[in-house]
Amino acid sequence: MSERLSDHTTTRVGGPARAWVEARTEAEAVAAVRAADAAGDPLFVLGGGSNTLMADTGFEGTVVHMGFTGVEVLPAEGAADGAGDVVVRVAAGHVWDEAVAWTVEHGLAGVEALSGIPGSAGATPVQNVGAYGADVSQVLVSLRAFDRAAGQVVELSAEDLRFGYRDSVIKRSMLEDGSPSPRWIVLSIDLRLRRAEEGAEPTAPVRYAQLARALEVEEGADVSLAQVREHVLALRASKGMVSDAADHDTWSTGSYFTNPIVPATVRVTLPEGAPAFAAGTDEDGTPLVKLSAAWLIDHAGYGKGFGLPDAPRREGDADGTGPDGRGLAGGRASLSTKHTLAVTNRGGASTEDVLTVARAVRDGVKARFGVDLHHEPMIIGTRL
Ligand SMILES: Cc1cc2nc3c(=O)[nH]c(=O)nc-3n(C[C@H](O)[C@H](O)[C@H](O)COP(=O)(O)OP(=O)(O)OC[C@H]3O[C@@H](n4cnc5c(N)ncnc54)[C@H](O)[C@@H]3O)c2cc1C
Repeated sequence: MSERLSDHTTTRVGGPARAWVEARTEAEAVAAVRAADAAGDPLFVLGGGSNTLMADTGFEGTVVHMGFTGVEVLPAEGAADGAGDVVVRVAAGHVWDEAVAWTVEHGLAGVEALSGIPGSAGATPVQNVGAYGADVSQVLVSLRAFDRAAGQVVELSAEDLRFGYRDSVIKRSMLEDGSPSPRWIVLSIDLRLRRAEEGAEPTAPVRYAQLARALEVEEGADVSLAQVREHVLALRASKGMVSDAADHDTWSTGSYFTNPIVPATVRVTLPEGAPAFAAGTDEDGTPLVKLSAAWLIDHAGYGKGFGLPDAPRREGDADGTGPDGRGLAGGRASLSTKHTLAVTNRGGASTEDVLTVARAVRDGVKARFGVDLHHEPMIIGTRL
């Protein structure tokens, strides 16, 4: 069976896969990965396609789509039916947001702030997904994965995964050897969640100022899980950060660039008002700060809708009109009209169109502020 990646990615771009395997069980996924590796065939493992930009020429190899689902509370000593920690196992192909909805419905606290992130559960540890003051490393206890190097199913603890900001050992394993797939193919993830006492309303502390304001509570206040989920989904929708087929602002990979982490000395070279948050130190002890990619993009003159001929332009803004007057990439790709961090397909865009807009933004930020922006999605078969 052959499929086009544009039918399986949230940006709706990408050419055909030479071979496509729909893995409906863990065993089918492992067998397909083993077979591709044994044949020396390039392998790409696909979940929801919400962090993938595949070349227009497609993939000369096997794409294994993780299509198996399931969420269950694991039996644990002492946890029984009372309050306390429970461990929930989610199959790799389960839609992440459906798993989050399930935990909220079952009164289990821990992932409610990660509501609305598109894609599969199995991909969440790959880049340690996060939003609104939470990330998956805070709750992930361990995962089961097929280790392609060892040829067997293994269990990795949170410690083994060496999580970082939008990073893990799984992600690094593909970047380091240049392969389009990681060494470990995630089969299921185990999350430690908290069950409220019988009769008590399940709540969680709000750890993000913007979310606290939306909920009209102080940061740190306990709020019901259902309310957190509802407000996170509303905030995300207002920024085009939940998938919606009817809204081109969501035809993206979400945030295209990560927030740059740079030596603290870089901060003084930036204009006053540029957000910077302490981000620890590097191996040599140099203090680091995390900058806001959205702020840098906006202040370098790349506003909402950049790339569209009719986008509102402020004085000094970069020209997003292409040579034919129809927009930088023929008007087919642009920054979201709701958020400067997302590069979107306006309909009919190719991967190259999306990258054309992303390159202009990356180069413009470098020229204006001297800061390198790094892309968040996995780019396969082409480069930014
Ligand atoms: C509108 C929108 C909003 C978003 N908001 C956020 C956000 O708030 N925070 C955030 O962190 N991300 C966000 N993202 C990015 C994306 O949703 C996450 O990175 C998500 O976890 C990707 O899941 P996926 O299944 O779609 O991954 P895919 O795109 O299918 O795959 C991404 C990478 O992971 C690998 N992979 C996939 N499944 C597995 C597996 N089972 N085992 C090993 N490797 C695997 C793939 O090979 C690929 O390299 C957003 C994306 C969109 C479109």
